[in-house]
Amino acid sequence: MNKFFTVKHVSKKSKARLGEITTSHGVVKTPGFISAATKGTIKSLFPQLIKEIGIQAGCVNTYHLVTHPGAEIIEKAGGIHKYSQLNIPLMSDSGGFQVFSLARKDKARDKSRPGETLPSLLKQADIRGDEEPFLVKISEAGVKFRSTYDGQLIEFTPEKSMEFQRKIGADINMAFDECTYYPATHEYAEKAMVRTHDWLKRCIKYKASDQVTHNQYLYGVIQGATFEDLRKKSAEFVVSQNTPGVAIGGVSVGESKKEMREQVRWISDYLPKDRPVHLLGVGQIDDIVDLVKYGIDTFDCVEPTRLARMGRIYKINKARCQNFLAPVGTLPLQGNPKSQKISSTHFEYDFDILKSVYKADLSPVDEGCNCYVCKNITKSYLHHLFKQREILGYTLATYHNLWVMERLFDKIREMILNSEL
Ligand SMILES: [Zn+2]
Repeated sequence: MNKFFTVKHVSKKSKARLGEITTSHGVVKTPGFISAATKGTIKSLFPQLIKEIGIQAGCVNTYHLVTHPGAEIIEKAGGIHKYSQLNIPLMSDSGGFQVFSLARKDKARDKSRPGETLPSLLKQADIRGDEEPFLVKISEAGVKFRSTYDGQLIEFTPEKSMEFQRKIGADINMAFDECTYYPATHEYAEKAMVRTHDWLKRCIKYKASDQVTHNQYLYGVIQGATFEDLRKKSAEFVVSQNTPGVAIGGVSVGESKKEMREQVRWISDYLPKDRPVHLLGVGQIDDIVDLVKYGIDTFDCVEPTRLARMGRIYKINKARCQNFLAPVGTLPLQGNPKSQKISSTHFEYDFDILKSVYKADLSPVDEGCNCYVCKNITKSYLHHLFKQREILGYTLATYHNLWVMERLFDKIREMILNSEL
C-alpha cells in the first residue's frame, strides 16, 4: 500500500517542504491548493476543464451535502467521486464551521455575549454558509437543526459527522470541531478548545470501528483562537493523537492578517514533520506565499472561484515572483505600509472586468497568462459576457483564476526545490 504522505524535499531556507499526498483518487503534490467544491461541484467547471487546468484536489462541504441531496443518496450513488464525476482527490470538512457559525447567527439575533458584537457575529456567520438552518438545539453532545430544504431534523455530533463523511466518501475527512468566533474571550476559546479535543477523541474512536469503502484519512483540527498559549496547547494535543493529517482551524474568521499569520507562526514548531498540514479557509495569494514557509502543505479557499464569479480576474505578474524571495515574516502585515519591506499592493492582485474601461479593450484577458482564456478571449468579450450576465463569463473567469492558482503553486514548488523559499 502506498504511504499517505511522503516528504520529498525540505527547503534550506525555511520550513517549506515538497511532498505528495497519495489517495485512491490520485496524488496531490504539495504545497497544493484545494479548490472549493462546496456542493460537489467546482462551480461552473465540468470535469474536462478541471483536468485541463490541472486542479489537483477539491473540498466538499459536509453540511451542505447533508442538507441536499443527503448523505444516503450520495452513498447509494457510490460516493461523491462517482456521483459528481469529480475524479480528483477530495477533502470534506466536518460541517462544524457552518453548524456553529449558523448557530451563533441565530443566537446573535437575541443578544451578544460579552466581548462579542452583533455585526462581527453576523459577518462571521456569513463567511461560508449559504443557507440558514432553523436551529433546534445546541449542546455538548452536538447540534440539532431543521433543514431549510425539507424541514428534516438533522443532528451533527462527532460520530454523525464521521458517518456523514464516510457516506460522502471524500478521501480526506476533518474531525468535528468547534470553530471559535472572533473576537472570543480566553475563557470561551479554552472551553471550545477542550470540547474540540474531546470530540477529536470521539471521531478517532468512531472511525476505528467504522467500515470504509476506500481509504479515508482523518485530520485532527487545531483550535485555540487568537491566544498563543491555547494554540500551542491545542497543537501539542492534536499532533499527539497521531491522525494521518493535521489541520489548523478557526483562522481567517474575521481577525486581521497579522493575527491570522501569528496563529500559524506560534505553532509552526509543533507541526508534524511526517504528516500533512492543512490550513482551513486561507487562500489569498500573499498569505499562501508566506505561510508555506511555516510548513503548511495544503490550503483551501473559496476566494479564486468566488472572485471569478464577481468578475474579479487574477493577474499573473512576473514581479510577483520576486516577492516569493522575501524572508519569513516580511510579507504584508498590518501597520504602516512604508515601514514594511513588501506590501500587498506589490501583488497587483486582480482587476474588475466589469469596469467600463474594458468595454472596447481587445487585448487578452491577462497578457502574462497562457491559459485557454487568455490565449483566445479579449477583455472586451469577457466584459460583455459579465455585463450581460451570460453563464459562459463565469466559466471563463473561474477557469483563468484557478489556472493562476495552480501555476502559482507550480512556482512555489519549484522555488522550494531550489531552496529559494
Ligand atoms: Zn489566463
